[in-house]
Amino acid sequence: MNAPIVISINKDKCKGCQLCVFFCPSKNLVVSKDFNKKGIKYVKVKDVSRCSGCGLCFVVCPDCCIEIYEK
Ligand code: SF4
Ligand code: SF4
Repeated sequence: MNAPIVISINKDKCKGCQLCVFFCPSKNLVVSKDFNKKGIKYVKVKDVSRCSGCGLCFVVCPDCCIEIYEK
């Protein structure tokens, strides 16, 4: 059995560009209804159990807001 995946998104660093949302093959990232410190609707994970750990969101984020690791 694979170790559980953990995704950490720094919501206050997120600029809401949605590149990660677009590239996630699992359609597992969504734009929040809430605003971050910059007044931007940040991105959050829908359901971590649907994440394959592919790392695409980590790679495409221009501001390095996303970290992925195994527990
Ligand atoms: S690691 Fe892959 S499946 Fe998981 S949220 Fe990021 S892009 Fe989506
Ligand atoms: S790619 Fe990075 S900055 Fe853009 S919405 Fe996703 S987490 Fe935020």
